[in-house]
Amino acid sequence: MPHTVADPAAMLTAIANVPTLSGDDTIHSALEFVRSHLGMEVAYLSEFIGDDLVFRAVSAPGFEDTAYVGATMPLDDVYCRHILAGRLPELIPDTANEPLCRDIPLTSAIPIKSHVSVPIRRRDGSAYGMFCCLSRTAKPDLTQRDLAVMRAFAGLSAEQVNGRIAERVTYDTTATAIKAILQSRDFDVVYQPIMDAAARRPKGFEALCRFRAQPYRPPNLWFDDAATVGLQADLEICVIEQALIALNQLPPSIYVSVNASPATVASGRLGDVFKHWPAERIVLEVTEHSMVDCYDSLLSELDTLRFRGVRLAIDDAGAGYSGLQHIVRLHPDIIKLDISLTNRIDEDIVRRSLGAALVRFAVEINAAIVAEGIETEGELTTLHDLGVPLAQGYFLGKPADLATAKAWFDDTAATEGCTG
Ligand code: C2E
Ligand code: MG
Ligand code: MG
Repeated sequence: MPHTVADPAAMLTAIANVPTLSGDDTIHSALEFVRSHLGMEVAYLSEFIGDDLVFRAVSAPGFEDTAYVGATMPLDDVYCRHILAGRLPELIPDTANEPLCRDIPLTSAIPIKSHVSVPIRRRDGSAYGMFCCLSRTAKPDLTQRDLAVMRAFAGLSAEQVNGRIAERVTYDTTATAIKAILQSRDFDVVYQPIMDAAARRPKGFEALCRFRAQPYRPPNLWFDDAATVGLQADLEICVIEQALIALNQLPPSIYVSVNASPATVASGRLGDVFKHWPAERIVLEVTEHSMVDCYDSLLSELDTLRFRGVRLAIDDAGAGYSGLQHIVRLHPDIIKLDISLTNRIDEDIVRRSLGAALVRFAVEINAAIVAEGIETEGELTTLHDLGVPLAQGYFLGKPADLATAKAWFDDTAATEGCTG
């Protein structure tokens, strides 16, 4: 690229692992457009890092060896600081007419004969870098209108850059928050009974996480956040470790149901977590909030866990991605009917028909059914009539702390009827 002095290698150093903007089509198109509009050889978008300038996006056909993303140059050697300070104009049709340009060795080394450069500013007004075009030939015809075009495209690119900066800030904030939660285990686990509806006794408890951070956010949002910063499995496993402690405190006939995403199951890390506990008292609820990437590793890990005695439940059946195809492939021990299906099932013929179909389907594949989100007697009765013996919902018991879960068994006579 034209910003090359006698020894380009000394001037331009590739920075390993710098985040680049090269993949951003909008910036690249903007650079290509202004470069060809101005009839120049090189266009780039730079970022200031300390006392250096780093190329973040480049359009320089034929000059790729020296003008490339990640190349860096000392700010003292280039025009940028002078332009920002007003010592050089943004539009320089002929560097020969600018005494300061003549004093900068780079001008003759490349050579730079014409130069158009405008700052890219962050949202707080500080300079992020420059949007720059240069040529080995003087361009006396360049006008203020060309500079206006350059500014327009620089503004467009600044929007992209600032979007990236905002994304980065969000990412860092999220990662910091999730790491802090992991470190201090800043959450509680609550337990919601899964009831034998006829006997009105718990058969098991679903462990649900409550993050303590204020203002309160539903747990699935925290797990989604953790996934965006690559910490989903860490957070889910941390919660499961905590949740399973209840097995020590609940009667041996009672199971604990824990939630995990397909990605966490596929990671192969659950085997280690479960090995400390009686597998037959663990139900693993797999919820999908996005398409499963790799069924092979998910199925193979599930096989291993189930071989040891862990039971598999498909969570939220009838909603989102937990469709029939997913259920067929995973062949679960338990199907949990989502609240969207059970809500007002007593008043809605369509929901009732779908519920009945899923019950028949479950019988065929030898799976048990748990109805989730039961809020009324009517819903419970309807599901019971459809052949769903197990139910969970506010009507039967809200998620509560472990002491409350244990209190279900204070009356020992009541627990005698419980089976696993
Ligand atoms: P889920 O696993 O399907 O859990 C059932 C959700 O329904 C829970 O919401 C529960 O509090 C709520 N619920 C129970 N009964 C009723 C009812 O009668 N009516 C209504 N409207 N809601 C009821 P919660 O605890 O807010 O959790 C939401 C989702 O967050 C969970 O859905 C699960 O996908 C995820 N989640 C919660 N805890 C964990 C966890 O420890 N690990 C993982 N991986 N995911 C979790
Ligand atoms: Mg669940
Ligand atoms: Mg559910």
